Amino acid sequence: MPKLNELLQQWQDDPAFMSNVTRWETVPASEGNFSDFPSHLGPQLHKALKRRGIEKLYSHQAKAVDAVLNNNNVVVVTPTASGKTLCYNLPVVNSLIKDQSSRALFLFPTKALAQDQVTELRDLTADLDTPLHCQTYDGDTEPGLRQGIRRNGHIVVTNPDMLHSAILPHHTKWIQLFQNLQYIVIDEMHQYRGVFGSHVANVIRRLKRICAFYGSDPKFILCSATIANPGELAGMLIEEPLQVINENGSPQAEKHFVFYNPPMINPELGLRRSSLLEAQRVASELISKEIQTIIFTRSRLGVEILLTYLRQGIKKRPGEESSIRGYRGGYLPRERRAIEEGLRAGTIKGVISTNALELGIDIGALDACLMTSYPGSIASTWQQAGRSGRRSGTSLALLIANSEPLNQYIVANPDYFFGRTPERALADPDNLIILTNHVRCAAFELPFDQGEKFGSAEITAILNFLVEEDVLYLSDSRYHWMEDTYPAEEISLRSATRENVVIIDNTGPHPRVIGEVDRFSAPMLVHEEAIYMHGGKQFQVEKLDFDEKKAYVRLVDVNYFTDANLSVDLKTLDIFEQEEGKINRAWGDVRINALVSMFKKIRFNTHENLGAGPVDLPETEMHTTAFWISFTPAAYGNMTLSEIQSGLISLANLIPQVAAFFLMGDPRDLRAVSQVKAPFTELPTLYLYDNFPGGVGYSAEIYRSYKEIFTAARKVITDCKCIDGCPSCIGPTSQDGESSKKKVLHLIEVILG
Ligand SMILES: [Zn+2]
Repeated sequence: MPKLNELLQQWQDDPAFMSNVTRWETVPASEGNFSDFPSHLGPQLHKALKRRGIEKLYSHQAKAVDAVLNNNNVVVVTPTASGKTLCYNLPVVNSLIKDQSSRALFLFPTKALAQDQVTELRDLTADLDTPLHCQTYDGDTEPGLRQGIRRNGHIVVTNPDMLHSAILPHHTKWIQLFQNLQYIVIDEMHQYRGVFGSHVANVIRRLKRICAFYGSDPKFILCSATIANPGELAGMLIEEPLQVINENGSPQAEKHFVFYNPPMINPELGLRRSSLLEAQRVASELISKEIQTIIFTRSRLGVEILLTYLRQGIKKRPGEESSIRGYRGGYLPRERRAIEEGLRAGTIKGVISTNALELGIDIGALDACLMTSYPGSIASTWQQAGRSGRRSGTSLALLIANSEPLNQYIVANPDYFFGRTPERALADPDNLIILTNHVRCAAFELPFDQGEKFGSAEITAILNFLVEEDVLYLSDSRYHWMEDTYPAEEISLRSATRENVVIIDNTGPHPRVIGEVDRFSAPMLVHEEAIYMHGGKQFQVEKLDFDEKKAYVRLVDVNYFTDANLSVDLKTLDIFEQEEGKINRAWGDVRINALVSMFKKIRFNTHENLGAGPVDLPETEMHTTAFWISFTPAAYGNMTLSEIQSGLISLANLIPQVAAFFLMGDPRDLRAVSQVKAPFTELPTLYLYDNFPGGVGYSAEIYRSYKEIFTAARKVITDCKCIDGCPSCIGPTSQDGESSKKKVLHLIEVILG
């Protein structure tokens, strides 16, 4: 029996191991569905595929090729390792062979993925009779090569940031591309959600506008990991009718997917054994049996800790190089390539990685994947799990929960995960601030005609506003650019406003910019002494210059993170929709005034409080959208105000996490405020607001799906084995000794009617 099957059998026979398993799902092997090469596919590609040992296509690949070559926009939903790149490479290359003046533009969310992709494209096109030029165009492209790419690149592979800041504003240098653009490929579409997605949708509006100007009308091919609403998200991004291909014809080997919850060691505090230590134990077993394993952790620190522990535990002969490696941002590219190569060749038996290895990068298929906590979304979990699984033979994916509410929810409710409805990905292209910023960029690129729409957005009011601001002037029914500056440069696609605080790393001999945060989040995330996590690394903020919008940081290695205490004053400005009854629900515009006055240092894993410090920063103000729910006396019955207050505080702890989970956002994207007598409603009220100026659509969605969200929240609380509240559910127990869980559950019952 193969070693992995042997070990799985051993675990299944071990009651101690199995008492921590909340689900053991065996996904049976499937043969796969194959199709002949579609009739449109020319002989050169037949040859190229056969050279690579491909005699038939998977059914979803063939469908995608057909749909694209029949002139449809297509979104293909595919799991990891199902051959998705052929879904777009084949029809695009086929069309370019037929008409060498045609062009294609490929967009990937990161530079690394784009560079990987070009390697694959070049392999496919290597010995075609018709030579095709496939090039990346990004910040690393040498200036000397750029002109050639602009003129001769058949397939230009880039990222949305580059398209936004370097290609569209200089469209006159890209005439060959825009006149002849036949296809736009958008891979990893599910990454384009929230603020980033709202920006990218507007970049695509600009792209389509430029194409129309040069007389081309490209078709779109999008690929996404599994999400609940691929058609909706794709439609939001490209604003065109499209065909959804949502099947997987690739063969699958047998896979065991195990949910593992470390044993409770202190029920009163809700403390479980550390998920890292459990992962170490399981990983040692796998690796010492030579079962090739990848272990995902959430932080750089986690990578290093596990690496140290595992190397200590697994003996090697003197002088022999360790077969266990770490992999994360911050390693040199050469080192990373060597690790990838070692994984493919099988000389490396274990790798511990941040999510840097989650997508794209080719490391072959491994035997086992351990996740040391819930990766944050169902889509990411499947992607990480997809790193194990060969064409034949058994593979394992093991998810170890930590003690946070979402982790606990997932392991306690495996049906939710294995059911067929993963998260909905949301974006709001018409967010006023984001939209206005891109109208500026678009107006710089080409004048707007009076009455012209921007994608589906009606923008006359925005154009007139920009005239008042002396950014544009109106003459002969056209809006012309009149500022000296070039707008795209100061707009980042990764945050909502133009007013960002730049983060500068002072660790090395030369200061360098490593990132930015929007100014509303700056007091929370980069106050002095804050630990700022970036690319899996920890930096300590030495100085925050709020006026100059600069934060200076230095690399550190500490065992804690920081959490700033935010006091928020919320004022309701406008109601968009509401429903009144025993409870009143609504969503609308609000103004947030936020002040950070202190922060806490919290130890990883145990969440032990290691101390606190003051923060001295001015108040910030933000307009955004919020969902709120208020309780009439008929709803809360004989609960006292102080009971309601503590119930609301608990809900404010839990609901943003649960809601973010349904909306596929980061829990930090949503914030909650509770007011026991809200000035606006005059009732006990829980507010949840989008933590971005203008909002990105979360509040409206919570208004619509509040039942689902509060039902899940109820389950988190009732499933939690703690006695009366813990960090895994409603937060720490209140000091007054009253039953917190009961109070919160009562409020939730009222909400659910
Ligand atoms: Zn609990």
